[in-house]
Amino acid sequence: MTVDFDGTTVLVTGGTRGIGRAIVQKFAEAGARVAFTYRSSAAEAEALVEELEEQGTEAFSLQGDVADFDVAQSHVDAVLDRWDTLDVLVNNAGITRDGLMLRLEEEDWDAVLDTNLKGVFNFSKAAYRPMMRSGGSIINISSVVGTTGNAGQTNYAASKAGVVGFSKSLAKELGSRDVNVNVVAPGYVQTDMTDELDDDTRDSILDAVPLDRLADPSEIAKSVLFLASPAADYITGHVLHVNGGLSM
Ligand code: NAD
Repeated sequence: MTVDFDGTTVLVTGGTRGIGRAIVQKFAEAGARVAFTYRSSAAEAEALVEELEEQGTEAFSLQGDVADFDVAQSHVDAVLDRWDTLDVLVNNAGITRDGLMLRLEEEDWDAVLDTNLKGVFNFSKAAYRPMMRSGGSIINISSVVGTTGNAGQTNYAASKAGVVGFSKSLAKELGSRDVNVNVVAPGYVQTDMTDELDDDTRDSILDAVPLDRLADPSEIAKSVLFLASPAADYITGHVLHVNGGLSM
């Protein structure tokens, strides 16, 4: 399915690596104007903007921590200053700080909840008003473990389950204003985040995935583009599981 996003303005949080980068690239290939945020990797961000501009895409990057409320507002304002509208917001930025409850520290809990859940609130809060003017789409990246749970990830699973409850509630608030709010819940994807897994963990994950492989980031990006496209106009409050059958 090729959808034309010509003229569509898109903001992706955490766009320099992994899934976020793939989402940025797919929207760019489809003709959108794309802004993306990053926390610290300025050189990667600059290189990605150059790459996109060489392809003829209007693009720029924004540095800051998604957990900071004022940063979110300033990032959304920067998109509006440049392009007047924001059509699609993808809340992708996320981190893990894994540990069994025995060893999990308060700061591990706070860091993950602040980035993965408060970050989604911050950007949605900044973006919903301008989106209500002309309609739009908010797509939040959760995770399979937000549904299934996972030992060693109480903080991460709570944040990702929170994203689902947040998104369904916001979908109910914004439906009549033509703003759709949906979730993509990936299974295990080949990125820096999963590079941290040891071989035994990786093998046991693969044993449980009927499609018998990790996802490529582009496969998550395709689902995001689907939910942002006119094909999904009547879909809101939905959780699209993209996990190779890991959880059915
Ligand atoms: P990644 O670590 O490769 O990239 C994360 C991106 O988020 C980076 O661009 C980073 O700069 C940005 N980021 C992190 N913390 C930030 C902060 N506080 N402020 C601003 N930017 C910040 O991660 P990924 O694997 O591409 O994951 C992307 C999203 O997908 C995350 O929400 C993650 O939880 C989710 N997810 C990933 C997997 C997987 O297997 N990789 C599975 C399910 C869900």
